Amino acid sequence: MTSPSASALVIGGGVVGRACALALQRDGWQVTLADADANRSAPSWGNAGHIATEQMEPLASLATLRSAPRRWHGFGGALDVREPLRRLPWVMRYLRACTPSRFEAGKRAMRGLLADALPAWQRLVQTISAPELLQQHGHWVCWESEASTKRGLAAWQGTDIGSARFSSLGDAQRAALQAALSIPIAGGIAFDGTAQIADLPTLAQRLAEAFAKAGGVQRTIRVRSLQRENRRVHAMTSDGERIDADLLLVCAGVRSRALVEPLGLRAPLVAERGYHLQWATHDWPALPPVVFEDRSMILTRFTGGLRAASFVEYAGIDTPPDTRKWARLREHVVQLGIPVHGEPVPWFGARPTLPDYLPALGRSERFDNLAYAFGHQHLGLTLAAISGELLADLCAGRVKAQASFDLERFG
Ligand SMILES: Cc1cc2nc3c(=O)[nH]c(=O)nc-3n(C[C@H](O)[C@H](O)[C@H](O)COP(=O)(O)OP(=O)(O)OC[C@H]3O[C@@H](n4cnc5c(N)ncnc54)[C@H](O)[C@@H]3O)c2cc1C
Repeated sequence: MTSPSASALVIGGGVVGRACALALQRDGWQVTLADADANRSAPSWGNAGHIATEQMEPLASLATLRSAPRRWHGFGGALDVREPLRRLPWVMRYLRACTPSRFEAGKRAMRGLLADALPAWQRLVQTISAPELLQQHGHWVCWESEASTKRGLAAWQGTDIGSARFSSLGDAQRAALQAALSIPIAGGIAFDGTAQIADLPTLAQRLAEAFAKAGGVQRTIRVRSLQRENRRVHAMTSDGERIDADLLLVCAGVRSRALVEPLGLRAPLVAERGYHLQWATHDWPALPPVVFEDRSMILTRFTGGLRAASFVEYAGIDTPPDTRKWARLREHVVQLGIPVHGEPVPWFGARPTLPDYLPALGRSERFDNLAYAFGHQHLGLTLAAISGELLADLCAGRVKAQASFDLERFG
């Protein structure tokens, strides 16, 4: 799989799959992108739009574990584990990944990846002729009490945020935020070196157009399974069609597990689900994304509406949504006095999360034509552009895979 101009099948047309498909097509592969999502309902288009370069520390950490009781859903927080016994094998792996030495190794690996995440987005939006989609205005974090300000500030001061920076909200910034809310804000910080995608459906559209223009073929099909023949793999669609390619790249988000595990590769992904409400009509000012940290809620003004997102719900991929979470989101918006009008559109979807909170990016050593890019957890949008560049380099043999992101780390 080192000769561009050969055929490639990319499975999954979320933001990671689309970035990879475009990078491969431009690198000389004849790419077919297979995506089951005809309505753009995937997490790639339902997320908070934040290019989160500051989130360098893997969430598999003792600090995250210590904060879990405070974040528990039953006590008003955003963290929930549904059917906990079924999550136990994943939780055991997660606990092992939280040890200080594994955490430090994960942080080193993420530093390398995140350092180039925003530059990769800058390159990508230029090449799809959509520079306006990348808004490089940072993001804000705010707190509602003196105690939470003190605690939150101390936590950020003790966190490695890579190439991002933060300082206290300036007077004008604070006044602009306060004017849009009906409750007092006790403290806040403004991050620099982070960014926002202005509109996710438009991003999907522009990536699709650039891919088609470069000669790529997109098909709305579901790959039912991957099947092995000696050291090669081919795809079978749910219509019974067999697809052979010189390269098969799995980018199916949380559903990647069901594709690769029958091949003998272990991919212990969990569905870490989040919820959002989006209002088409609102009077929220043109501010960067604002995190209301006491409520674990992020508010993003997109071109298409105002989106409030929250929750970390470990659940089965197809477990029905917990409607109380949308009610909780609505309560937050009402209590904060956020100026929204009419009925919001509810959405939920799953972050694809591996137990060590590092993505799986690499080429299989067991199969000559298999590669993968999934498991991007909270950072799939942030890491999509750099994942595309990296996978093109890997598949052309220009760079070697990094052990920290190799699926073989799970045995
Ligand atoms: C509430 C919430 C907020 C978030 N906010 C942010 C944020 O601000 N910044 C950030 O960086 N990340 C954020 N994330 C995380 C981010 O959304 C995910 O990491 C990202 O969507 C993963 O992208 P993906 O392309 O790997 O997978 P997905 O978005 O899940 O896309 C996978 C695609 O593959 C398709 N597919 C699956 N199986 C098959 C198959 N067998 N055959 C064909 N197609 C298939 C699916 O239909 C889908 O289109 C957030 C997530 C949530 C839930």
